[in-house]
Amino acid sequence: MKILITGGAGFIGSHLSQVLVDQGHEVVAIDNLSTGQVNNLAGLKGNPRFQLVIGSILDERLVDKFVERCDAVYHLAAAVGVQLIVNHPLESLTTNIRGSEIVLETANRYQKKVLITSTSEIYGKNTNAPLKEDGDRILGSPLKSRWSYSTSKAVDEILAYTYWKEKGLPTVIVRLFNTVGPRQSGAYGMVIPRFVQQTLQGEPLTIYGDGKQTRCFLHVQDAVRGMVDLMMHPEATGEAFNLGSQEEVTIEAVAKMVIQLTGSSSSLKFIPYDQAYEEGFEDMARRVPDISKAKRAVGFEPSMKLMDILHSVIDYYRNKPNALVQRAH
Ligand code: UDP
Repeated sequence: MKILITGGAGFIGSHLSQVLVDQGHEVVAIDNLSTGQVNNLAGLKGNPRFQLVIGSILDERLVDKFVERCDAVYHLAAAVGVQLIVNHPLESLTTNIRGSEIVLETANRYQKKVLITSTSEIYGKNTNAPLKEDGDRILGSPLKSRWSYSTSKAVDEILAYTYWKEKGLPTVIVRLFNTVGPRQSGAYGMVIPRFVQQTLQGEPLTIYGDGKQTRCFLHVQDAVRGMVDLMMHPEATGEAFNLGSQEEVTIEAVAKMVIQLTGSSSSLKFIPYDQAYEEGFEDMARRVPDISKAKRAVGFEPSMKLMDILHSVIDYYRNKPNALVQRAH
C-alpha cells in the first residue's frame, strides 16, 4: 500500500515509518520538523520506498496532493509534550484542531482511511483505574493550557468519529498512554528521556510534585504494532482504542530505577508543579489504561517491561552523548 504519515519524522512517526517500509509498503512522511527531526529517519535514507516531505499539515494544497496519492493516512502530526503545550498554547491548538480538520476533510474528499492518534490526556483528571474507552473526561478550567490541549485532542476524536458516522469515512482512533523509547526528546517535558539525560550528565533528576503520581509506560515498538494492527483490522473502524501498558509505577520509583541502571550518583530534586510548569498547574495523580478492547480486537499486549524500556532509552542516549536536556522554547 501507499501510506501517508503526518508527523512522520517525529518520535513515534519515525518508528512507524520504518515498520511500514519494512512490511513492504511505500511511505510518504509529511513533517514540518517543529519537533520532528530528519535524523530520526536516518535508517530510511535513500530507501526507494520512503519519502520525506518537509511541510505543514496546515498547508491544504500540500495535504491534498499527498492524500490523493495514498491509500491510507496515519495522522500523527500534532503538538505534543506538556511543556510545549504550556509554553505555546495557541500554536498547539491550531496544529491540533485545524491540522486534523484539514487532514480529515481531505481524506474524506478522496475517501481514504485515517487512523488518528489521540492521547490519554483526554481523560483529564479521571483517576479511575483502569480507564476504559467510554470513561468520563474530567477536566479543569479551559483557561489552563493542559485542559485546552486535552479538549483539542478530544475535538480531533469527535471530528474523526463524526466523519465516520455522518459521511462513512473509515476512521480509527488510538489513544496513546505515555509512549517512550529511543528518539523521544526530553525537550518537551517527557519524563523518561529527561531523567536519562539528567543522569548521564550527572545532574539531579527533577521530580515534579511529590513523585507519588503514577504512570504506565509503553515502548514505542509496542505502540506502533498496535496502531498498524488496528489500522488493518476492519472492525476497528469507527472505534477508539487505548494503547498502553498496565505496569503502574510512581515517578519517584522511575527516577530511582534510572539512577540504578545507569550507575549514576545523581540526586533527586523535588520541584513544585507551579515552578516546573506554570502557576496553578494540575497533574494527574494516576493514569492506567484498560487495554482489553485492543486485546480483543487485535491481540494487543505490550511485549516490553519498564526495565527493558529504560534500558533501550539509556542505550540510545549513551550513543548520543551530545544530547542535552533542553526546555521547549
Ligand atoms: N515529570 C517529572 N519530572 C520531569 C518531567 C515530568 O517529575 O522532568 C512528571 C510529570 O509531572 C508527570 C510525569 O512525570 O507527573 C509524566 O510526565 P510526562 O510529561 O512524561 O507525561 P504526562 O504528564 O503526559 O503523563
